[in-house]
Amino acid sequence: ALDEVAHALGDEAYQEAAPVEPLPVVAVVGRPNVGKSTLVNRILGRREAVVEEVPGVTRDRVAYDAVWRGRRFTVVDTGGWEQDARGIQAQVAAQAELAIEAADVVLFVVDATVGVTDTDEGVVRVLRRAGKPVVLAANKVDDQRWEAEAATLWSLGLGEPHPVSALHGRGSGDLLDAVLEALPEAPRETYGVTGGPRRVAIVGRPNVGKSSLLNKLAGEERVVVHAEAGTTRDPVDELIELGGKTWRFVDTAGIRRRVHLTQGADYYASLRTQAALDKAEVAIVVIDASQPISEQDTRIISMVVRSGRALVIAYNKWDLVDEERRRYLDREIERELVRVPWAPRVNISARTGRHIEKLLPAVEKALAGWGTRIPTAKLNQFINEIVAAHPHPVRGGKQPRILFATQPATRPPRFILFTNGFLEESYRRFLERKLRERYGFEGSPIELNMRIKQ
Ligand code: GDP
Ligand code: GDP
Repeated sequence: ALDEVAHALGDEAYQEAAPVEPLPVVAVVGRPNVGKSTLVNRILGRREAVVEEVPGVTRDRVAYDAVWRGRRFTVVDTGGWEQDARGIQAQVAAQAELAIEAADVVLFVVDATVGVTDTDEGVVRVLRRAGKPVVLAANKVDDQRWEAEAATLWSLGLGEPHPVSALHGRGSGDLLDAVLEALPEAPRETYGVTGGPRRVAIVGRPNVGKSSLLNKLAGEERVVVHAEAGTTRDPVDELIELGGKTWRFVDTAGIRRRVHLTQGADYYASLRTQAALDKAEVAIVVIDASQPISEQDTRIISMVVRSGRALVIAYNKWDLVDEERRRYLDREIERELVRVPWAPRVNISARTGRHIEKLLPAVEKALAGWGTRIPTAKLNQFINEIVAAHPHPVRGGKQPRILFATQPATRPPRFILFTNGFLEESYRRFLERKLRERYGFEGSPIELNMRIKQ
């Protein structure tokens, strides 16, 4: 039924509703006019890409999500990239290099009616160096007469040339089958363990109320004490049923057992925090709201962000917070926690039980943000809009351009911006802010990486 709804709504809705996993990237490379964009149109079923009759015209979208035989992947159309003043050969080679870096598979398009040119040879050299799987398309084989020409492309040493007519569709199914075969077996894993109860770490400096909180959560609801026979259950994890779901609170032994160390206590505490974060998907950082926010609090929050985990901040001991303290706290948060304005905040009291019930909805929200993926075409459209309205400042007479963007991973969301120059920190922060404004990602760190090619 979901499928039917999805088809009625169109693919983009489907992609947002579908379970999130990183998509492999297929980059379509070749010199201008061999038919790259026409082929991309063909792969997408002519829905999205725009073929310009004028060579070199910039298209505003260059990357798309595609599906063939139920397998989804991202297609990058390098034909959409802006032409520059360099010689065509150097430029095509440079574009190919950039595309190859992004790609799991390269779809190399040659015009079979023209045969191999010097520019094609240049791309072949780049492809050899890269060592990525290559599928060779001999395009414009509109009818049988050109099959023989296609066969001469064996000489490129890139394996079997697949004769295709991007324009009419001839041979495109076989070509796509070859692409699927070249794709990596399974989508690249972004996070080791999946399935089972969501894994939550309660972290924070000593005496903020972690064990009180855990007791409150476990005590009021049924604690699942015994794992089924034969399942390996880490004895330091606790399964707690809350809101109709089972949650796995990891490394609770460290919370329950009050170990009092004097020397190196900080060091061991941070090791334990890191160990818990490594096992968790989301962290609840507990802060004692009745005390000034300390460096140790902010350090623990930084650990969560650096570990790429979803984050919820619980301000505990709210029963001790009066009006005055509250004003101070707001100022402290503004000052100390400027880096994580996106983290959901819950004001609780583990002692009285105040707002404990708000904790898990916040955790769920953070997990949702952590797992969000933006479909590639939408992402590129959005980035193009942002960049058109607020271009990167010109530095030393140069203005770096974003060629295209992908989000290869979630948990946490990771973006790669393929650019022809260095994007300043402030500009990347600006982009992150815009992405958050538009798509939320509440409770989750975001990674924005660059791949630069001059
Ligand atoms: P790109 O610059 O590599 O993206 O090439 P385009 O997709 O813009 O195509 C360049 C020209 O070749 C256009 O006029 C297309 O209509 C034409 N073309 C593309 N594929 C085919 C094909 O399979 N057969 C024929 N006859 N023409 C094609
Ligand atoms: P942990 O070291 O982070 O596990 O902290 P504990 O749970 O052991 O709590 C440290 C102290 O703070 C204990 O004396 C708790 O009774 C007290 N405490 C915990 N939560 C609250 C709360 O919400 N309000 C108040 N007033 N005290 C609390």
